[in-house]
This record gives sequence, C-alpha cells and structure tokens, in this order.
Amino acid sequence: MNIYFDNASTTPILPAVIEHMTEVMREDYGNPSSIHKHGRKAKSIIENARKMVAKVINASISEVFFTSSATEANNMVIKNAVQDLGIQRIISSPTEHHCILHTINYLESQKKCYVQYVDVDEEGNPDYEQLEVLLNASQEKTLVSIMHGNNEIGTMTDIYKIGMLCKKYNALFHCDTVQTIGKYPVDVQANNISFLSGSGHKFHGPKGIGFVFISNANIILPYIHGGAQERNMRAGTENVAGISGLSLALEFNSNHMVSNRNKILNIRSVFKKRLETEIEDIRFNGRQHDLFMAHVLSVSFPPGPKAEMLVMNLDIAGISASSGSACSAGIEEDSHVLKAIGHPNERKTIRFSFSPFNTEEEVHYTIDKLKEMSEISALKM
Ligand code: PLP
Repeated sequence: MNIYFDNASTTPILPAVIEHMTEVMREDYGNPSSIHKHGRKAKSIIENARKMVAKVINASISEVFFTSSATEANNMVIKNAVQDLGIQRIISSPTEHHCILHTINYLESQKKCYVQYVDVDEEGNPDYEQLEVLLNASQEKTLVSIMHGNNEIGTMTDIYKIGMLCKKYNALFHCDTVQTIGKYPVDVQANNISFLSGSGHKFHGPKGIGFVFISNANIILPYIHGGAQERNMRAGTENVAGISGLSLALEFNSNHMVSNRNKILNIRSVFKKRLETEIEDIRFNGRQHDLFMAHVLSVSFPPGPKAEMLVMNLDIAGISASSGSACSAGIEEDSHVLKAIGHPNERKTIRFSFSPFNTEEEVHYTIDKLKEMSEISALKM
C-alpha cells in the first residue's frame, strides 16, 4: 500500500507541472536578466507567473515577489517591517508556525521590538476581543502576524475581522496563508492585508519556491543585496522553472478550488465518521465547524502503550501520516500548537491531511488498519 495522508506537510507535484517545468528547464534556460531573446523569454515566464499569483490574491503585479520558501517570505517581511517600517510591537498568536514564532522571538531577544500574544481557546481560535484591547492599548507602530489556517489542527481565523481591526487601529497585518492559498479565496484588498506568504509545495507545485505579497503602501528595503532581480528586493538569479511551476499549480488549484474542496470534504467526513463510530474515545483537535480547513484532520487517541506506536505502525502498513508531537530530550511532547490549545499530553495525536487525489478506498483501508492496531492495543478501553 502507498497511501499519502500528509498533504499539510507537502503535496505530490501535479504531473502537468512536472512536464511544464521540465520543458522550461530544457527550452527556456536563458538568464532572465539577459537582454537577448533567451533572457527575454525567461523573464516573460517569470512575469506571467507573477501576474497569475497577483490575480489569485487580488494584488497588483508590483506587490508580488518570489522567494525560496514561505519560511523565507515570513522572515523577510517580519524582519524588514521591524527594520525598515519602524515596527515597535508585534502581536501574534501561540499557534503560529515556527518560522513566525522563532523569527519574532529572535527580534525580541535582539531588543528590536517587543511581542504580545493573543490567547487561543481550546479550538485554536484567537481571542479577537483581546486583539482589539491590545491594539487599542498602545499607539506604537504595530504589526499583527496571525495565520489564516493552522497547519496542525486546521482551525482557520477570521482574516476579515483581523484586517478590519488592523485598519481601525492603524496596524499592519501579516498573514501566513501557506495552508490556505489555492484552497480558499484570499483577497489582500478586501481583508486589508499588508503582507502575505505562500509556498509552492503546499498546493501541488514544486518545493523550494514561495512568494510574498508586500503591499505598495508598505514597501520594505532590499532584502538580499546583489543584482536587480525581483525589482531589487531579492538579488540572485531566479528559479525560473520553480516560479513557473508554482504559478501553474496555483492556477490549477484556483480553477478547481470548489470541486477540490468538496472532494476533500467528502474524504474527511467518511474518515471522521468511521473513526467516531468504530474506535472508542476518539477526539478531534481544532475547530470542526465553519472556519476549518477541510484537508486537515487532527485526531487524538486515548493513551496506551500501542498508541505511542501508531504513526510507526501506520507507516509499516504503507500509510503516511504525521505525529502531533515532537521528541524533546527523549520524551514525546505535544507540539507547541497542541500545548497552546490545552491538549492533554498523554493522548496521542495524529494529523491526517488530505488532497483531492486521495480516495475513499484509502480511507477505508486506513480505518481498517487503525482498528486492527487499536484492537491489539489499549485504545479500546
Ligand atoms: N507556514 C505554515 C503554516 C506552514 O505549514 C509551513 C510549512 O509547513 C510554512 C509556513 C513553511 O513553508 P515552507 O516549507 O515553504 O518554508
């Protein structure tokens, strides 16, 4: 068996994207900075890709820059917003991705700014009232960095509400949309977003390529110095095939957003229903109604000796899923996200994450295997 239920971690690349990238690498090898026809062709591929990304997020072309990853995009905007735009305070949440949390911790440790966190409830929803209280409490120039969809538990935030609060209190809004771009509509103008990040490999595009939106009103200084690539913002010869592959994958996802989501919702509900009815004492982490991402299902199993082995046993059965814990000093500990929502550490969490390419048969096989594993384990208690 070869079942891939780890699509929040990365996604299989679309065959059409592989073919397209191969073609670009073979035929369009010119340096985009060269003025001859080979260079011009490569340059036009990049600019078409930029146009596509801009269209999907309702930005202007001059506001989109390609990076090597969303990690880079997030580092770039947060560090440079502090350095170039005079941000004194960052408000974030404890359930952000490490590339946000470690960046803002670093900035705080360097005394470049200070950080405040809004609380999250047991579903991972940020406390919007507290956000308003914090915004209202200080006139300091503030960046709010709150993600759109949580990669571990699937909870989505109300980015319209956050954007409007930022507008009201004159704060900048940075949104990590890595898990939602191509899956849910994201409109930077309607949501008053100043900065946004995305990553090709999360929507069936290539790895090692991401993008950042920087609104024209908040343009930061060049981030990597060197040549004039990416309009001086990020020097270095562009990853032409990667950029083009990212845009083709994004186009595919945007054109099939609703049908893909419906397929995934169906997979998720079959999975969830069988788990609920056939394995005892199952719990689901994160929000399970309206604002949740269809592709993420975080499942919490009751404690027991075999529960610890579930991810490994699934792997042996040919099913790839992700553990919700990290090993620290030899002890399995809940991830920072699970800790933040008050998840009991003794329960074992597995994140199953889906794509439109998964099938109901894969779900049934997986649940059957989980049942076998739970029957010989202490799960059924
Ligand atoms: N932000 C979120 C929410 C993610 O899920 C990830 C990847 O796991 C990232 C950022 C980092 O993306 P990249 O792999 O492009 O660095």
